[in-house]
Amino acid sequence: MDKSNKDLSTNYPLHNKALELAKDFKRIEIELVGIIQKIDAFKIYRKLGFASLYEYVNQGLGLSESVSYSLINVSRKSMAVPELKSAIQQGSLSISQAKRITSVITSVNASALIAKAKVMTQKEIEKEVARINPKAAVPERARYISETRVELRLSLKEDIMKNLRRIQDLECQRTKTTCDLEKTLEVIIDDYIQKHDPVKKSEKILHKLSLRTVNSNANENRQIQIRNTEIVENSSKINNIHEASHPKTNQRVAISSEIKHQVNQRDQGQCCYTNSQGARCLNRRWLDVHHRKPISKGGDNSLENLITLCKVHHRLQHEFAPESVSG
Ligand SMILES: [Zn+2]
Ligand SMILES: [Zn+2]
Repeated sequence: MDKSNKDLSTNYPLHNKALELAKDFKRIEIELVGIIQKIDAFKIYRKLGFASLYEYVNQGLGLSESVSYSLINVSRKSMAVPELKSAIQQGSLSISQAKRITSVITSVNASALIAKAKVMTQKEIEKEVARINPKAAVPERARYISETRVELRLSLKEDIMKNLRRIQDLECQRTKTTCDLEKTLEVIIDDYIQKHDPVKKSEKILHKLSLRTVNSNANENRQIQIRNTEIVENSSKINNIHEASHPKTNQRVAISSEIKHQVNQRDQGQCCYTNSQGARCLNRRWLDVHHRKPISKGGDNSLENLITLCKVHHRLQHEFAPESVSG
């Protein structure tokens, strides 16, 4: 500490306290990264019911989205690049300095990059990262700027941008109005959801089926026939929820498309696992349909016996309660 700093801390005890706490803060961050590495290595978060390390750090430890991401990035990168790990452990590189280079550091460029990260300002190191990997220079980010609006930041390949502009032109032409990029994205997204979202499809099909059931008194047999054809036609392409990849037994009967649509509607295409604090798993991808009561124990393909689970929670169900589950 030079003289002026000494004067500052004597004259301003609050500043002195802040300095002390900042030192503790940096030390604790480093310690936390070390612990997270172990939790990651032994997959302890799964045993606690979290689908991912991110979910554990964010929900289980109650840390913000951005802090969770940087702690995990730094912890995983420093496992892969030993030089980064030792620079952090020795305290010569802070976590906030480390997180700036995680997207581009390799064991080949580690020494040079760590040396730069220690001395360069944030702006300078961002430029350096952009030079090494232009995509990493703009990390994808979505953050709320009001209750109903989100700022989305990402970089795109030039070709994708050209196509986006092309769709924008076409949409302006089609609607004969000015169409900005947000409107263009809305059109593309709506189109995709209508075509490929199993929850949306289920909603439409179940709605159609219920209308037909109401009108079916007059010609019941014909309606059932139409309905069956429709379900068969739609079954393969509509449902992206897979039945569990368990070995098929003889008594196992495929879940009908109508029931799958009902499961999609009820669970809204999201894992239904709820942890001990009552928080539902946020996973909406890699989903399975699981039988609460196994087929081998008399369980059936009824809506009540089926539940949507992500791969991780599905596996956990089978590992921790193998008696009570089957597929
Ligand atoms: Zn889950
Ligand atoms: Zn299962």
